[in-house]
Amino acid sequence: MSLSDSERERYDRQLRVWGEEAQLKLKKARALIVGVGGLGSPVAAYLAAVGVGKLVLVDDGVLELSNLNRQVLYTTDDLGKPKVYVAAERLRKLNPNVEIEAIKARLDEELAYRLVKDVDVVVDALDNWETRLILNKACVENRKPLVHAGIEGWYGQLMTVIPGKTPCLNCIMPAPPPPRETPLPVVPTTPGVLGVLEANEVIKLIIEGRSSFEGRMLVYDGLRGEFSTIELKRNPNCPVCSKLG
Ligand SMILES: [Zn+2]
Repeated sequence: MSLSDSERERYDRQLRVWGEEAQLKLKKARALIVGVGGLGSPVAAYLAAVGVGKLVLVDDGVLELSNLNRQVLYTTDDLGKPKVYVAAERLRKLNPNVEIEAIKARLDEELAYRLVKDVDVVVDALDNWETRLILNKACVENRKPLVHAGIEGWYGQLMTVIPGKTPCLNCIMPAPPPPRETPLPVVPTTPGVLGVLEANEVIKLIIEGRSSFEGRMLVYDGLRGEFSTIELKRNPNCPVCSKLG
């Protein structure tokens, strides 16, 4: 596998940072992005722009007017259309070198296992813990890295699960939290910040095999303009990950 002249030109600025060998790793990589809303829009846009070889997108939503303040892959013309198909079209136009697979579905256990098995890295761009915990279990059991982010209002959090090495999402949230205010209040820039950071961790996982947030959670406070980190420990009795080394 090599880069074409047009790929070398497209990726010129980033090749000056990480070189062609790293770019080929990105080109060979496959990433699963679950959710193409506020978080998933920037994750998918940046991973397509940067040249990750294949992106698999999963979402069952249809574009609503109240999505457009933060879900930056979409336009007013897309109202009423399935988001995952509109996103795939946009991303193919952004970078035709990237293969995009779009799946309109709500992630259940069976689909999660099937999709996770065939990718190198998984991104949690979801808005609910029920589905998150299903995705986490599939990642742990298939030993695939999972980049998690969650947001509400001005606040966000991010961490990477390396199965067998770091806490998994079940270690920190063993059961879905009680129902909250729905829909969640969201400052539009919060998923933008966290989504870009998720994409950044995916890039490092592919190129360097590591994330900066293994076993530590990044906490973002957009109102105060502060980032902090919290060290997290594995739960030795975690029903999902405690059996792994
Ligand atoms: Zn665990």
